[in-house]
Amino acid sequence: MTRVGIGYDLHRLDAGGKFILGGVEIPHDKGFVAHSDGDVLAHAIIDALLGAAGLGNIGQRFPDTDPALKGVDSMLLLAQTMDVLRDAGWSVVNVDAVVVAERPKLNPHLEAVTRRLAEVMGMDRGLISVKPKTNEGVNAEGRGEAVSVQAVVLLVRN
Ligand code: MG
Repeated sequence: MTRVGIGYDLHRLDAGGKFILGGVEIPHDKGFVAHSDGDVLAHAIIDALLGAAGLGNIGQRFPDTDPALKGVDSMLLLAQTMDVLRDAGWSVVNVDAVVVAERPKLNPHLEAVTRRLAEVMGMDRGLISVKPKTNEGVNAEGRGEAVSVQAVVLLVRN
């Protein structure tokens, strides 16, 4: 049996703070405004995984009102989500994600991002795809005020 899941997330950018994507800090003059480390890619993947497995959503498992999650490394949340999926009998077949960010240029960092995600998810790097897109100057992403991510995952029953 296979199951597909979709995830979406958006975080605002502001001066200062860190720009962390897929567990990798990328140099930029703006960083994410969030309760956690603001790793919008990790959050979209987590929601896709939970959705595919029918195990709720990121806000239920990791509420942004939880003081213990203030500034948390989202790779820890992703690792915990993978544990939950494994316990429920699911393996991840592949991950495909679109990152909408006007700046910084992400292609030079994709190898590091997919390597980090693969490490945390216990998968081959070739099974994880991340595709940066600009928004042609349109909307919040296009003005560099936010970054959004759409992610799709496929699960297979062990
Ligand atoms: Mg988020």
